[in-house]
Amino acid sequence: MAPVMADISIKSCGQSGTGVIADKPFSAGEDILEFRGPKVRGDELDSRIHALEIGGGWFLGPSGLADDFVNHACDPNSAVFFEHSKVMLRALRDIAQGEEITFDYSLVMREDDTTFECCCGAKNCRGIIGPFSELPEDLKRQYARQKLVPTEIHGIQV
Ligand SMILES: [Zn+2]
Repeated sequence: MAPVMADISIKSCGQSGTGVIADKPFSAGEDILEFRGPKVRGDELDSRIHALEIGGGWFLGPSGLADDFVNHACDPNSAVFFEHSKVMLRALRDIAQGEEITFDYSLVMREDDTTFECCCGAKNCRGIIGPFSELPEDLKRQYARQKLVPTEIHGIQV
């Protein structure tokens, strides 16, 4: 079991095996955790698993902490935000204690040509998680309106 950050814990849950559970309620807009992995060039990564793309060919590798284990969902309750030198996971809506914390991986996938199978069970589940460029156009527009598409990764969105 990896070390735990404050207010969250790692548990086995659902079909995805490992996930991150809120140990307290989070309010919409509240920071949940910081991604703390080492900065690594994409071509130096052994695996994209547990690596977070941060733009310009750079990734944050595995930290060994809870931030490695946050699952994807097609109806996520959090998203990645860049704050100066920090990469934060922030609640998009109120999250109840005991709820699994998730974000949409496609929002932070540009160079990564990996795809994952999704079994999140959401009504709008896309089935396959791939790069942002392959999202349905209406979802791209919705995410852009919500300002959830990091310019650090994708450049300026039109
Ligand atoms: Zn899904």
